[in-house]
Formats: sequence, structure tokens, C-alpha cells
Amino acid sequence: MFKAFLIKYAEIGLKGKNRYLFENALRDRVQESLSPLGEYTVSKEQGRIFVECPDNYDYEETVEAIKKVFGISSICPVVVIDSIEWEDLTQGVGNYVGEMYPDRNFTFKVEAKRASKEYPRTSPMICADMGAYLLGLYPEMKVDVHNPEVRITVEVRTKSYIYSITIPGLGGMPVGTNGKAMLLLSGGIDSPVAGYMIAKRGVSMAATYFHAPPYTSERAKQKVVDLAEKISKYTGSIKLYIVNFTDIQLYIYDKCPHQELTIIMRRYMMRIAEVLAEKEGCLGMITGESIGQVASQTMQSLAATNEVCNMPVYRPLIAFDKQDIVDIAEKIDTYETSILPYEDCCTIFVAKHPVTKPNIKSIKRSERNLEEKIDEMIEAALSTAECIVVNGNK
Ligand code: ATP
Ligand code: MG
Repeated sequence: MFKAFLIKYAEIGLKGKNRYLFENALRDRVQESLSPLGEYTVSKEQGRIFVECPDNYDYEETVEAIKKVFGISSICPVVVIDSIEWEDLTQGVGNYVGEMYPDRNFTFKVEAKRASKEYPRTSPMICADMGAYLLGLYPEMKVDVHNPEVRITVEVRTKSYIYSITIPGLGGMPVGTNGKAMLLLSGGIDSPVAGYMIAKRGVSMAATYFHAPPYTSERAKQKVVDLAEKISKYTGSIKLYIVNFTDIQLYIYDKCPHQELTIIMRRYMMRIAEVLAEKEGCLGMITGESIGQVASQTMQSLAATNEVCNMPVYRPLIAFDKQDIVDIAEKIDTYETSILPYEDCCTIFVAKHPVTKPNIKSIKRSERNLEEKIDEMIEAALSTAECIVVNGNK
């Protein structure tokens, strides 16, 4: 029965003069998420986004696609009546309730909005008169203005809109309204969740994965591509750099104390990712780090990793417990992929007893052992990086 959706937004409604930028971005993101499904018309309409569906559209599929767009507070499937005449409106609402609710033993309330003060009935009058009309038509329904089971909303604009279902959106802001960041994406549970969280604030995304063949397999790489594709359903298309890190890792392994390997490796990952981030016009980097989760994520280790970065590093999971991260990973459908048991380039070269309180001076001293070849190795890693664009919506 629904051929259209009204999309309501919350936070972006507050943005003053920039509001239209946010509205345009939200309209575009909704359009992009729907275009693979068919010919939908998405437009801005008086503080809402309005979606008109093609004739043979699939309701569930459409709702699922809109639900993944950040910046939405709720999605309301709506019946549109091409008239604002009272007779047409009452008939429309009567038919709506008859069709939507075959069993009408519920309490309800009519809520009304009129776009123009010229309309002959005020909003409270529309509510009262429509409520009375419905009670006449369906005596089994009961009014409860405080805590109704069903809220029937009637909006009178240039046309009339009737809805009673509100599907919650994800909130956040439309991707593309808050700059771009470089996600360090591994095959683990955390980094896809970190990317999702920052994208939710309107940030678009590029990603870098450090690959160490033959120590890490093609399957491990494919897993990261799959994860990028999964989060791109929310973030929009992602340019994923796959950097061959093997030579650098072996060189570090050869030249540096083994208990410092992980930290030194993490520092080189950040340095390389930052070059790619600058190239991509990113304003920050994102990692899935969380205080104390592993030896390389103690406060001292984070300080040592951070010390090589010039760009801000965003760590949205910093205070999250693992279970909280897993809950989000399950919700965004990355968990099952993340737990596939393929090798990770960090785990292959780990020391038995990594330092948990690295001393930056000592780390820097160890890194001096790499002076001879590290710059050309970084150059080589950058110039041979593979780049693929993933988009889970296409
Ligand atoms: P994750 O679950 O995201 O892999 P983790 O708990 O395994 O995280 P680490 O291996 O210490 O933690 O990595 C910390 C962060 O560093 C990751 O969240 C990710 O952002 C980044 N990172 C680690 N390994 C890689 C890699 N091979 N390629 C790109 N980024 C990586
Ligand atoms: Mg990991």
C-alpha cells in the first residue's frame, strides 16, 4: 500500500546556514543507496527527505537500504493523497486504517500538521475531527491521547500525507559532510567497527591494509577486501590501498630487538598510512585501538605509536570493552568475516615477550638500525601499493 517514504532527520536540522548542504548530502546518500534497486525519486521537502518508489519495488529491501544511510532519525512509510479536501482526507485516513490494521482493537491518537495557516482547520481541529470520524467508522478503536498504541499522523501540505509507522534510523550525519579520513583496516574485529563509527559522524573514508605475503595469504587479503565492502554499505565507496609490508617487516625483524618489533612495526604502518592519507586529502587517520587491549595498546604503546603521526589519529574504540565492540561488529555484519581464522601480519612476527611499556628513546635508538635501507623500502612499498575501489552498494 505504500508507494513513498518520508525521511526525518535530527541533528542535521540544527546546522543553521549550512543546513542545505547537509540536506543535499542526505538526499544524495539516500539516492545512491537506492539507485541499485531501481528508479526512485528522492527529493528535499520542507525539512524532510521524500522518497517516491517505482511501481514494483520491494518494501523490505528498500527499508534496509535507507536504514544504512547515516543522518536519519526515522523512516516513515507514507500514503500520499493528491488532495487536501477534507472529504478526501477522511476517506484516505479511513482506508489507510482499514487496510493497515485488520484487527482494530487498539488505542490511538491522531496527530496533525498543516503547512499553511490558511487551511480551514487548525491542527488541533484536524486531530479532533479525524479522531471522531475514525471512531464513527471503527467503533472498536479507542482514543488514548497520552499513551496510544498507534499514532496516526496526518500532514496537510500541498498534498496530504498519512503515516503511522516509524522505523528508527541510525542517526549520525550524512557521509561526506565532515571531510575524509584514512582507516587502517586489518582483518580483525576492531578496525571495521572504528571506521563505521567515524563514518557515522559524516566522514568519508579511504583505507590502508598492510599485507605480508607469503606470511599472510591471499585469503587474508580477500578477507580485508570483504570487510571494506561490508562497511562501504554504510560509508559509500572506499578506496583501499594494499601495501606490501613484507620487506619492511623482515628488515625490522632482522635489525631490531624482538620485544620492540610490534611497536616499531606499528610506527612504520602509521608513517606509511599517513603518506597515503595526505595523497587522498584526508584530515586524519582511524585505528581500532582500545586502551589495554593488547601489549601494543597500553598507554605507553599508544604514545609511542602516536609519536610518529603528524595528523590527528582518531581511535573511536579507545574506551570500549571487547564485548561492546563485538556487539557493533555483529550489528553491522562484519563479525563473521572478522573471525575467519586467517593470519594477520602483526601476529606472525610477534615476540614471545613484547614490551608493554615501551620507552620512546629506546625505540628511536632501535629504529636507527634501520637507517640504511628503510627510506627506499618505504618508497618501494608506496610505489607498489595496489589500489582497489570497493562499494558494497553496487
Ligand atoms: P583489529 O581487530 O582492528 O585488527 P587488533 O585488536 O588486532 O585490532 P592490533 O593488531 O594491535 O589490534 O592493531 C591495532 C590497529 O592497528 C588496528 O585496529 C588497525 O587499525 C591497525 N592495524 C593493525 N594491523 C593492521 C594491518 N595489517 N593493516 C592495516 N592496519 C592494521
Ligand atoms: Mg589485528
